[in-house]
Amino acid sequence: MRNFAERLTRFKPLQTFLYWTELLIATTILGAPLAVYEGFYRERQYGLATQTLGPWLGDQLIVLIVNLVLGGILAMVLFGLVRRFPRTWWIWCASVSIVFLILFIMIAPVFLFPLLNKYTVLDNPKITQPILSLARANGIPAQKVYTMDASRQTTRMSANVSGYGQTMRITLNDNLLRRGSLEEIESIMGHEMGHYVLHHIAKDILYFSVVVVIFFAFLHWSLERALARWGERWKIRGIGDSAIVPLVFLIGTLLGFVYTPFFNTHIRTNEHEADMYGLNASRQPDGFAQGAIHLGEYRKMSPSPVEEWIFFDHPSGRNRIHDAMRWKAENLQLFTPKSEH
Ligand SMILES: [Zn+2]
Repeated sequence: MRNFAERLTRFKPLQTFLYWTELLIATTILGAPLAVYEGFYRERQYGLATQTLGPWLGDQLIVLIVNLVLGGILAMVLFGLVRRFPRTWWIWCASVSIVFLILFIMIAPVFLFPLLNKYTVLDNPKITQPILSLARANGIPAQKVYTMDASRQTTRMSANVSGYGQTMRITLNDNLLRRGSLEEIESIMGHEMGHYVLHHIAKDILYFSVVVVIFFAFLHWSLERALARWGERWKIRGIGDSAIVPLVFLIGTLLGFVYTPFFNTHIRTNEHEADMYGLNASRQPDGFAQGAIHLGEYRKMSPSPVEEWIFFDHPSGRNRIHDAMRWKAENLQLFTPKSEH
């Protein structure tokens, strides 16, 4: 594939982009059976999917094109740096990747998410008034709450905080709006506001910047050794040769595999923090427990502690209900009618 890209053009960055295109198409075809099983067939088996195969494939094509363009640009920049700084490339590549990550987080809610779903400003005072009141009480200068048509793909209920700086926003998906009680929606909004007030996105950027630097340092170390040993047999000319990308993927996958429980635990710790914040802010423990039960449609409710540590990026339903009921038990005066005092 590298030789083919070189025959098509003499311009090095374009060779990198062509190689990226070939590799992405090849790996997409090779990975298709598993991707279709995981993303389409199994989702239907569990009754979570709302799409037929045609529209689902259409979504996958959009994701592929985004990967092609953004991944291609990143590959061209990173290989440019490797060729210019053959000894210190990993520091430069790590820095550029971090900048890329921040830009991605900033533009995603405005330019990328709308490629798959329709985002609109929520316009139902019955729901927006209590949410905006909760936001004001927590020092969040929000004027708008967003909603999106997740029901186009799935029955899953969800909400999130996305973006960074000017693009930061809270979005409630339409499944939650349709199926959740007001108490439930308020408790989930309290959770999302927790992410916002506790600056989870900014802290994650800082944290993952450290992870990215460690990753590139390890990549530098392992690529040098692998090339010294097998470079000739694999016909990879050096670190600046785009034919090294599959080896980078292999090392990245192995590292990612080992890193899985630590990644999930990092995210899950933030989520627990947001849970606690949300209970205190919304004072809706019953709504929160109801939400945890709804999420049980796609998350195992009661995993073993080891299972939760390895696989769960949110606290389990059981732990969330336990947290909510403990909070309620300690705040029973909020729920007892005055006449009964
Ligand atoms: Zn969360």
